[in-house]
Amino acid sequence: MYYNTIEKLYISGGNTKLYNTLTKTVEEFVPHESGKVKMYTCGPTVYHYAHIGNLRTYMMEDVLEKYLRFAGYDVTRAMNITDVGHLTSDADTGEDKMLKGAKREHKTVMQVAQFYTDAFFADCDALNIKKPEIVRPATGCIDEFIRVISALIDKGYAYVAGGNVYFDTSKSAGYGELAGHADNTENLMVGVRDDVSEDENKKNKSDFALWFTKSKFDEQELKWDSPWGVGYPGWHIECSCISMKYLGEYLDIHCGGVDNIFPHHTNEIAQSEAYLGHKWCGYWFHVQHLNDETGKMSKSKGEFLTVSLLKSKGYNPLAYRYFCLQSHYRKPLTFSFSSLDNAAAAYSKLYARVAATERTGTVDPEKVKALLAGFNDAMSSDLNTSLAVTSLYDILKSDATGAEKRAAIDAIDSVLSLGLKDAAVRKEEPSAEDGDPAILEKIAERAAAKKAKDYAKADAIRAELLAQGIVLVDTPTGTTYKKQ
Ligand code: AMP
Ligand code: ZN
Repeated sequence: MYYNTIEKLYISGGNTKLYNTLTKTVEEFVPHESGKVKMYTCGPTVYHYAHIGNLRTYMMEDVLEKYLRFAGYDVTRAMNITDVGHLTSDADTGEDKMLKGAKREHKTVMQVAQFYTDAFFADCDALNIKKPEIVRPATGCIDEFIRVISALIDKGYAYVAGGNVYFDTSKSAGYGELAGHADNTENLMVGVRDDVSEDENKKNKSDFALWFTKSKFDEQELKWDSPWGVGYPGWHIECSCISMKYLGEYLDIHCGGVDNIFPHHTNEIAQSEAYLGHKWCGYWFHVQHLNDETGKMSKSKGEFLTVSLLKSKGYNPLAYRYFCLQSHYRKPLTFSFSSLDNAAAAYSKLYARVAATERTGTVDPEKVKALLAGFNDAMSSDLNTSLAVTSLYDILKSDATGAEKRAAIDAIDSVLSLGLKDAAVRKEEPSAEDGDPAILEKIAERAAAKKAKDYAKADAIRAELLAQGIVLVDTPTGTTYKKQ
């Protein structure tokens, strides 16, 4: 493939710049071992569907991984699945989210975990988010947690109190640096809610649980034997242990949404560095939140936005990917259906233009490399995906041959994953224009309803046709139908 050759031309660059939450600056990215990147992602808590905000974070992490590969790095990426230990308050208090999910659905915790893990990866598939090569559920790594917690106790960083094991944050030099409040104990109280705090045994308010054997909500279904009694792990220790086990002592990039900075990632740094005795992770990559028009997106608000909901309203999930790529990962993004409509229209046009560009003419690799320069400049400047998308239009407008344009677009699509590689005008398939006029009228009526944001009407038309055995298929270039 041409783009493989072209990707390699960028290896020597080593000029990727990323914002690092730890130093609060955009820095040149230099991995611990030259040419290799160890990357860790906090995985989903599988008690419910992921909302499209969660998926914005996973999408931008996916783009980061793919861009690093494009830039020539050999990337190994690991992710946990949180199926135990994440309490309703990130500050280790409240009920286990998994148990809450199990009660809601009258199922066992493991049934709920399996169902929502599968749903999460199905959503990732729909959005072209690649599954990390290493994915481990927390419940599969209990021995590892016990081993690391024991070592932390032996080293004097953790203590047993009131039946639980806690990390002693006063022993951790620079605790809170990531969150920008090192040595400021007042600030560290942020996120620790007094009203639900169940533990008077902690030595410092910011200490956090590594292992629970006692909790106010002690109906935990999943429990394991440990040197401190039968219990379950805290959420923070899961990520540190899974990362260190599969990626080793030196991590290059740790990712998550901004809400993970404190306390989760702050605590991960404290316990990992206490255990290892040296600096653990060089770069911290955090994605800002997707908000809806009423504020932060949350699963506790009743109906929330999921990929299935977008699909049921006739949107191609890749239009949502395009919508996210149009803004920078470090800026909060507000979701509305009208902005999604705009993104969907732009995406359809882009797709159609790429499809209409036939792979004809000669290919000069130097020319293709030149076509990719704009993309590479944008992405190496702290992942400027919106400029990267613009570079696609510049390529389409250029005087290169069709084959050169498509080779460059293929290379870009190995990172942006907008489904452009296979874009082609499908002449062989019957289009809806040749179809039944009554159905075509309904399709037009539905399109108008969508445009007027009358989604109830649009959904009703889809359902009406379905009842007659007619399935509507939304494609980047419009709606067609097939008979069941
Ligand atoms: P959770 O399943 O709650 O552990 O969250 C999964 C990921 O989504 C984490 O990296 C969170 O930081 C991230 N996240 C949570 N809410 C949002 C949001 N509204 N927008 C973007 N990312 C989010
Ligand atoms: Zn984590």
